[in-house]
This record gives sequence, C-alpha cells and structure tokens, in this order.
Amino acid sequence: TAPFLIIGAGQAGLKAAETLRHAGYDGDLVLIGDEPQLPYQRPPLSKAYLKGEMDDERLLLRPQAYFDTASIEVRAGTCAVRIDPAAHRVELADGSRLAYRRLLLATGTRARQLPIAGADRAGVLTLRTIADIAPIRAALDAVEDVAIIGGGYIGMEFAAVAADFGRRVTVIEARPRVLERSVAPQISAWFEALHRARGVRLALGTGVARILGDPAATGVELADGTIIPAGLVLVAVGAEPVTGLAAGAGLAVDDGIAVDACCRTAAPDIYAAGDCASFPSARYGRRLRLESVQNAVDQARAAAAAMVGDAVAYDPVPWFWSDQYDAKLQIAGLSTGYDRTEIDGDPDSGSFALAYYAGDRLLAVDAVNAPRAHMLARRTLAADAPASGPASLARAG
Ligand code: FAD
Repeated sequence: TAPFLIIGAGQAGLKAAETLRHAGYDGDLVLIGDEPQLPYQRPPLSKAYLKGEMDDERLLLRPQAYFDTASIEVRAGTCAVRIDPAAHRVELADGSRLAYRRLLLATGTRARQLPIAGADRAGVLTLRTIADIAPIRAALDAVEDVAIIGGGYIGMEFAAVAADFGRRVTVIEARPRVLERSVAPQISAWFEALHRARGVRLALGTGVARILGDPAATGVELADGTIIPAGLVLVAVGAEPVTGLAAGAGLAVDDGIAVDACCRTAAPDIYAAGDCASFPSARYGRRLRLESVQNAVDQARAAAAAMVGDAVAYDPVPWFWSDQYDAKLQIAGLSTGYDRTEIDGDPDSGSFALAYYAGDRLLAVDAVNAPRAHMLARRTLAADAPASGPASLARAG
C-alpha cells in the first residue's frame, strides 16, 4: 500500500512522524522537506544559535540515526509542487510522483516581505530559516548600524543579539509600542525599557518610506523623513502561512489551511497541522492559527492520531516564550478580549506576572522571569478553574 506522506519537515512534520510510529503505524512513512537539513528547531535561530552558542547538531530535532531506527524516510531538499487529491498523488519539483494513503500538510510559514522601495537591496534580510543565518552573521560582522523593521518577537530578539554584539541598533515599529499584538502595555513598556537600557533606540508609531542605498542598503527613511543609518536591515514584519499547495488542490484556506477540530481538511485523507493550519477552537469560540512550538507539537500529535483513526479534538491552552538578553517572557493562554489586568510582583524587581481577565475569567498570564507563575497559569487555564486573582499565582521565581 501507499505510504503515509508528510509535506514539510519542520517541527510539526517531525512530531507527526514520531507520533505515527509511537501509535503503532508500521507502514511506509515519508517526510518531505524543501530545506536541505534534517528537521531542526527554529527558536534558537534568533537566540542561542544566532549568537554562536549552539552548534548545528544541537539545532537538529533528531539525529539521522533516529530516522534510520524509526524507519522514517526523510527526503530533504525536496519540494512538493502539486497535490491531486482524487488520485491520492503528490507531484515533486523534479516531476516525479508519489502516491499516498494519508497526507499531512505541515508547510509552516514564510517571512512576510515589505512592499517598499529598496527592499531588494543587499543587506536587507529576513530571519526564518537556517539559510538566513550566514548572511545575517556576515552582515553583523561588517556593519556598525543595524535597523530592524518590526517590533514583534523576532525583531526584539534580534535587537537583543545585535545590541549584545555591540552594534548600534534601532527598532522601527509602526504601532505605538513593541509586541503590541500579543501583550498588554505594561509588558511592552517593560521590554522597551530593557532594550533602551542596553542602548537600543526605538522609533515607535512610525512607518517606513523606503530603504536607501544602492546596491547595498545604507539606511531606512521613515515616513516623516528621518533617516536611520543601517548597513543591515532586518525585516521582521511577521509571517504568512504557506498555503499554495493546499489552495492549488482546491482545499479551503481561511487564514491558514482550514482543518476541523481533528486536523482534517475537507479532502479525504488530507490533514494539516502547525503554523500553516487554522482550526476551530471551542475554548476560544473562533478559528485560530497559532505560530508556536506548542502548537506545532500538540497539533501534529492530534493530526497523527487522526491519521491512524484515533481522532481527538485539538483545543489547547496555547503557550509561548521569548528570550531577550537574560529576560524570559512566558505567555500562557490568549489575552484577546481582556477587560482588565492585574500585576503580581514588582516589575522593577525584574520578575513579575501579569494576568488578563474578562470579568472574573482568567484569560492569560504573561510571566517575566517567573517560570513558576507560568506553569501554574497553564494548569489553571487547562482546568478552566474560576479565577481567584493573581495573588493565587505562585510568586515569581
Ligand atoms: P516550520 O517549522 O516552518 O516547518 C515547515 C517546513 O515545511 C519548512 O521547512 C518549509 O520549508 C517546508 N515546506 C513548505 N512548503 C513545502 C513544500 N511544498 N515541499 C516541501 N517542504 C515544504 N515559537 C515558540 O513557541 N517560541 C519561540 O521562542 C519561537 N521563536 C522563533 C524564532 C524564530 C526566528 C522563528 C522563525 C520562529 C520561532 N518560533 C517560536 C515559532 C516556531 O518555530 C514555529 O511555530 C514552528 O517552527 C512551526 O513549525 P511548523 O512545522 O508548523 O513549520
């Protein structure tokens, strides 16, 4: 019989393959990925790996020996270009075809590009894959001034690394504060102060007009005409789900590849999981698409279960982390729709937690250097216990 096929050899694709073996699936299992490496972790790309504190081997999620033992065929450097759902067949970039019995799409996201003049100049870079790292490191070595467009997680993590590297760093953010999309003003303010204390300049509430320099970037011109000098411009304006394969096969795309609670698309035997997929959450009463390791791992597990006929609804308490300098932010839950916040601990002490509520209901907790508060929040949210205030959260630390 035809194999179980997984397209996308990232965090979700690998976890699905592992789970299929774990669940007792012993048929052929093929993992196709268009990057040349074995599956690797992305979070260190903007943290320890970028800093040179982690080698290539430790970046890999599993060594080659694992795939040999588990009988998982990894076809790295292979791009799938078309799916024929009726024939249960996938076409690869070299024109060959591969039949599948069940197919999982775990194609992830790609870095969003900025549609402005000069965005194609040398020195204008994005950070998403291991291949992005060498040019970034080379540029970091060669320049004095670094501009980062976008004050989200990747932009702020990169700012921390570049500042530690001794570069003059400016973060340009269109919104009035950094990390605005996911955290409350107090958390943004805490991280803004942390970066400013390390010498990072923040240009907030300002758009970008164009990138200057030819053929290589020399700076960024802001909407108000201000010029920020920069030989390295990191564009960190978010990611977009890779949905072309799915759309081309007639599958529904709703932000991401639309799946049901059990990771199934509307096409027989085709599933999706990870950054590329949007799913209906009963917990949140709406469709979600999450970009996190938690989601990639847990949704891949659910997809694998469904692929072996053991479907379970996937409806997680999302969690996420970000490391900037020696500060660790950990987020549990989703704060969308909160009407008040409460702080536990003293932000000036460097360790505190901020809880988000809608009425009496706890929605989410952001913990800054407070891992126990984070773990307790995850447990509380999973139990959906009535909220009793942040005083009930474990003290920071
Ligand atoms: P991916 O890991 O993106 O894997 C998808 C793979 O599919 C890619 O290799 C892609 O090339 C491949 N692919 C796509 N189309 C095809 C095709 N047609 N044929 C073959 N292969 C294909 N999350 C956290 O929770 N905490 C963090 O601190 C954190 N930091 C991050 C830092 C950076 C710099 C980045 C980029 C991400 C970070 N994330 C973090 C997010 C996390 O890494 C992602 O959510 C996770 O990797 C998603 O896994 P995935 O398998 O869905 O997608």
